[in-house]
Amino acid sequence: MFAETIEKYPFETGVYRPPSEGGSNSLLIRVTRNCPWNKCGFCSMYKEEKFSLRSVEEIKQDLDSIAAICERLTSISNKLGHGGRVTREAVLKLMEEAPSLSNSHGFVMVMNWLGSGGRTAFLQDANSLIMKTDKLVEVLTYLRKTFPSLERVTTYARSKSLARKGQGELKDIREAGLDRLHVGLETGDDALLAKIKKGVTSEEQIIGGKKAMAAGFQLSEYWMPGLGGKKMWKQHAINTARVMSEIDPDYIRSRPFYPAPGTPLFDETERGELVLLTPLEVLEELKVMIAGLDFTAKVCFDHAGNYWQNKSGGKLLSLDYEGYQFPEKKERVLGLIDLGIDAYSS
Ligand code: SF4
Repeated sequence: MFAETIEKYPFETGVYRPPSEGGSNSLLIRVTRNCPWNKCGFCSMYKEEKFSLRSVEEIKQDLDSIAAICERLTSISNKLGHGGRVTREAVLKLMEEAPSLSNSHGFVMVMNWLGSGGRTAFLQDANSLIMKTDKLVEVLTYLRKTFPSLERVTTYARSKSLARKGQGELKDIREAGLDRLHVGLETGDDALLAKIKKGVTSEEQIIGGKKAMAAGFQLSEYWMPGLGGKKMWKQHAINTARVMSEIDPDYIRSRPFYPAPGTPLFDETERGELVLLTPLEVLEELKVMIAGLDFTAKVCFDHAGNYWQNKSGGKLLSLDYEGYQFPEKKERVLGLIDLGIDAYSS
């Protein structure tokens, strides 16, 4: 019976989620496929893929399949005397019962999630707020009911979609159990936003971000040092600091720009139209940006692209997911950047 259920209702997972969401231990629930915008000039994530919504029924079926796997695994583990824990023997026994699981991309993910306590879930793909509010609320309610061990549910969202939702709608979504939003702000400079085809203005970014905060979400905004190249670096830094300060999110996360092959910005770089900053120049841009921040967020450099060395060859900035609490740590971060500038100037 279990094998039949799993054969009949395989569940779907997407590729991407933020690394800060529980290491490899988040339950990935695909509520839409790919990106509904898919035009950002730096982004290669979903370039060849077509966006589609998934029906609430389909998503609920995925959740039922995952719940069936979890229940069966727990039962096998108990029978083996392993106390319901995810053990190698229990997993192998489960795969004997339902051989199709060995071809399921999501099976290992579910085992990791369950084995780590089943605490966090991430709704995929690129912008779950594109869903109609009542549908998203229905999915979240079902998710929370099916997996009561979840302590945090998060997703990606576009600023534009947040700006378009009513304040009451965002509150409903928050109350249905979505805790944290990850938003790719990239830059707060309108000229650069237009150039990279982000499809949003700085005013909409501020409206969307403020609405999310007012609805009670934990808000994580991402920005891209170096995105403006040599021509636009200063306006990029100044206006990004302005927009971030206005929004005053919970986290801002630095994702330094690198031109990904196959993207318009890569081609611009190849043609010499976009001239990249050197590591020293990115630090100088970072200094202007950080100096302009007037808020109470945590500033994070939780990505390998933020790896600068100090003079003794050590790591300049912490790559920790919780970053530096502002305004308390602002002077400390500026001091570290000065040390980096010193190291890269010599
Ligand atoms: S909205 Fe996000 S996923 Fe979509 S194209 Fe832009 S950066 Fe890529």
